[in-house]
Amino acid sequence: MRIVIDHVSKSFGKVTALSDVSLEIGDGELFFLLGPSGCGKTTLLRCLGGFEQPTAGRIFFGDEDVTGAPAHERNTAMVFQGYALWPHMTVEENVAFGLEMRRVTGTERARRVDEALARVQISELRNRRPNELSGGQQQRVALARTLVVQPGCLLLDEPLANLDAKLRRDMRREIRSLCKESGLTGIYVTHDRQEALSMADRVAVLKDGVVRQVASPQELYRRPASAFIANFIGETNFLRGKVVAKETGRVLLDVAGVRLEAESCPEAFGIGAEVVLSLRPEALFRTYSAGEGANRLRVTVRETSYLGEIADHIAMSEQGQEIKFFELNPVGVLRSGEAITLGVEARDVVILPEAD
Ligand code: ATP
Repeated sequence: MRIVIDHVSKSFGKVTALSDVSLEIGDGELFFLLGPSGCGKTTLLRCLGGFEQPTAGRIFFGDEDVTGAPAHERNTAMVFQGYALWPHMTVEENVAFGLEMRRVTGTERARRVDEALARVQISELRNRRPNELSGGQQQRVALARTLVVQPGCLLLDEPLANLDAKLRRDMRREIRSLCKESGLTGIYVTHDRQEALSMADRVAVLKDGVVRQVASPQELYRRPASAFIANFIGETNFLRGKVVAKETGRVLLDVAGVRLEAESCPEAFGIGAEVVLSLRPEALFRTYSAGEGANRLRVTVRETSYLGEIADHIAMSEQGQEIKFFELNPVGVLRSGEAITLGVEARDVVILPEAD
């Protein structure tokens, strides 16, 4: 089911939770709403589910305008963080409940319940009650309960927030393949960037009720539209610089006397423009060729954390800026006070379109 959100705003008294949000979500797409606490993502999901009414704007499911339609008239199913299972019902009864409400009975009901339980691999738990299940199993029941009604769209509100880290990672894969195999359109709210990066087809990042960027996970990470997004989606170093020269595929920058080369530059910035750069810690590497060329930073190591698969370093540049960098598969140990040279590829020097 294709979903169109057309200039939707929502206020609660003086609080503006959503401000002129427009998004198009493709049929079968797994679309994420990501942002810090209070950015409006749950409000938008609730508007889609029919639990809130937008103050302005329209919402379309396919060609149908559902803006004023109540929740039970929308072809959606919602999965909550708290699962919201009926404690006095067995797993099977919980899953069958939605079908009862829709007057699906007899063998059709039994078949669909069996199918949904099998789909999330909990057939053998069908006679247990929720308090006899682990958190992960309860989440599977919640998923089976939504799948059984065959919705056109699945709305997921931080569904993995109550699970431990390992289970959360396993469930990410399962929820994604579940949506993809059933061709379901999924809209998934989270503030967990890794959940969004690992699961989404596309992500909308919200801040203060405004959509700041809509992009694929890779584009969001590698080409963030602003310093806020670069920082929200992963660790990074911000540097201030000036555009010195610009040609196709090559941009020269001066960063406090250091020459850096980038592959691209937002069109709005011409020669002489003051810009903010983002350099990810994993894009910086130790090099022994100080060389004459660009993209070399002389730094002094200040702090090192050895974490096994990586070492996490904080250094100070000659210009007095703190620089974080990661070392994958570290062998030797860098000592505090050691002076080294860091390199970075031009493709990893990102000039941000917006400074905040
Ligand atoms: P979180 O990650 O903390 O759940 P969120 O991004 O989902 O945050 P929302 O719950 O959508 O944010 O809230 C957006 C803004 O709207 C917040 O400032 C919140 O306090 C406010 N808000 C949400 N629901 C109501 C309500 N029923 N009445 C008044 N204000 C509300």
